[in-house]
Amino acid sequence: MYDDMINHKMIKTLLALALVFSIIFIPPMAIGQSYAPGYGYLKMPIRVHHSPTICAIEPQQDSKFPKVGQQLLEETEYAVLDWNQKLNQGLGKHPVWNINLIKVYLGQQKGFDYNKCDITIHYLPKPENKDTEFVAAGVTIPNFETNKTNIEIYYYDIQPNWQKIEWTENNQDYYSYVNKPKYTGFVATSTQLDSTIRHEIGHSLGLGHFIVPYQELQLIIKGIEDMPSIMIDTVTVLGVTHYDITPLDVWEMKSIYGDSGFDHPVTEKTGYQRIHILDTDKQNYQPSDRVKLLIDTNNFGNQTVGAVIVIDSENHLMDYFSVSKLNSTLYLNDRYQNDGKYWAEFIHPSGYFDYASFTIGNQILQSSVIMQNSTQQVPPEIPSWIKNNARWWSEGSLSDYDFVKGIQYMIQNGIMKIPQTQNGSGLAQQIPSWVKHNAEWWASGQVSDDEFVKAIQWLVSNNIIKT
Ligand SMILES: [Zn+2]
Repeated sequence: MYDDMINHKMIKTLLALALVFSIIFIPPMAIGQSYAPGYGYLKMPIRVHHSPTICAIEPQQDSKFPKVGQQLLEETEYAVLDWNQKLNQGLGKHPVWNINLIKVYLGQQKGFDYNKCDITIHYLPKPENKDTEFVAAGVTIPNFETNKTNIEIYYYDIQPNWQKIEWTENNQDYYSYVNKPKYTGFVATSTQLDSTIRHEIGHSLGLGHFIVPYQELQLIIKGIEDMPSIMIDTVTVLGVTHYDITPLDVWEMKSIYGDSGFDHPVTEKTGYQRIHILDTDKQNYQPSDRVKLLIDTNNFGNQTVGAVIVIDSENHLMDYFSVSKLNSTLYLNDRYQNDGKYWAEFIHPSGYFDYASFTIGNQILQSSVIMQNSTQQVPPEIPSWIKNNARWWSEGSLSDYDFVKGIQYMIQNGIMKIPQTQNGSGLAQQIPSWVKHNAEWWASGQVSDDEFVKAIQWLVSNNIIKT
């Protein structure tokens, strides 16, 4: 999946992360990856093995915007034409690059044979699954086992939206800030839709994000420079009115497939490799089970960051995580209630990928299990990477900045609750050494979570950590 999510707070992170999806919510360890080159393409481990057929699925009628469905199908047609023309430029009467498009209208969708689609494009006002909490202009979601890819284009316009969340528990008031960018409810400009569709098609054919240095990106955003590639993370360039599939994009495509088109690809030269690092603790779960993902991050460098997504059998995105050396275990939430097959997939911008499938199966007692499950709130766990962070920080191998990012992550995600105290007036100070010792002891199990939380609360109320 990809892209094009927005996170105003960490826009630089996003840029580097561009790699994978552009999901809005980037955990702190994504900061400071060293792999992001100053200029050039990241990799996307998706390949088509013949001239691909794209099926553009006409969206459900939007009563507020009755013409948007037709508009999106037309824009998709132009985007496919554009890719075909640019790839075949200079080849005269012997075009070798052929992307097929089938528009699947509402009336045809029931009996349609989706097996012929290598790539589907669905158009939605915004992401369907509220729990995944991301904001994107579009995402590309591969299934590495079936080799089918799904693109979702979100046609609503996006605005940032910072919210203070307050609640009371045990007579204590708590608060936290969360950036929840919103879809405005209006249709995005056709410029944005056109460029997003071209961009996501680029991903679905194997192109990763194009990274430009920060300063140059600013020039592009201001309209002073043209975009050197359609594959710049679309969220970072929202509002840019001039875009195009560029010669660089064509060159990159040919460096992946060679000069003879998708039907006659050269032997893979560029990095695109399955590594075996991802597994689940079981192959089959009941809906009441917590699905556990195991990621072997032993060979990760300290700066390595990849993404793990979880998809269902229709290539819908269920979950997205950013993973680094420090988080080798992930628990999925209780969203996995429907019987069926699911895939967890690892994607790294160097072209490495892996996947593991699991099933949820529960023919009997399904409804009662779900009911029990929904009334039972599992408190969020402190992720194990936070504890590792604490150890590294206390040893001096992690900066205050990165450590604080981790704490902010916990606060913003409700994992750590901070009482609403006199947050505020003091000047930012050094983190006192006792906090560091406390972190060290916590990491080694000598002090409890409670005591550690108290130390962090002290940092917040003394304005050293801003929430
Ligand atoms: Zn993208």
